[in-house]
Amino acid sequence: MADEQTLNRIMNEYEELRISAANERKKRIEKVNKKIPRVAEIEREIFQCGMENTKRIFKNPDKADEYNRDFKENLRKLENEKSNLLKVNGISADYNKYKYKCENCSDTGYDKNGKKCKCFKQKLINAAYSVSNIEETIKTQNFDTFSFDYYSKDVISMNSAPLARGEKVRVIKGPLTGLVGELVTVDGKSKIAVRLNMLGCACADMPVGYVEPVRF
Ligand SMILES: [Zn+2]
Repeated sequence: MADEQTLNRIMNEYEELRISAANERKKRIEKVNKKIPRVAEIEREIFQCGMENTKRIFKNPDKADEYNRDFKENLRKLENEKSNLLKVNGISADYNKYKYKCENCSDTGYDKNGKKCKCFKQKLINAAYSVSNIEETIKTQNFDTFSFDYYSKDVISMNSAPLARGEKVRVIKGPLTGLVGELVTVDGKSKIAVRLNMLGCACADMPVGYVEPVRF
């Protein structure tokens, strides 16, 4: 299905998305801290309280319950203050959270159960399209000379009008074997269509028996 190079490219894309999410988060935090310095102070105080609490419990473990109660009370006050400051300044409470393009997999490609995320599957489908030989042909030849060796011009047509999505299929017979595209009906004829960025679609007549559905 997808070769190693494609998988590496997809994994790099995910890594870039995660780096960008981390950078965006950092920028939002810096912006808030600059606008409301007290918020940064509160964060430091919360951290300090946690440290102090741990130290006190170490020195006097018998009083752990009492110390933890104090700590929780302090924490609640500080967090209240922070959340009020954010509200007054019109800042969303999740400003310091990572915002991933895909919430389902946090831009890792895999969900909580270790299964391929739907965004990963979509990337694989896209990759299958872009490696299809029509797009490769387009890259190396200009549009005027675009043709298939095996097909006459009236069998292959360029369709610049929008085309409804068709079932994803792979050609299993004939000279276009291996090509991945969509099975569509144009003027009552079944055709395989490959979407080419900017150029619309390339369509080739395709007997239904020549294709099989693509499943990931
Ligand atoms: Zn995802």
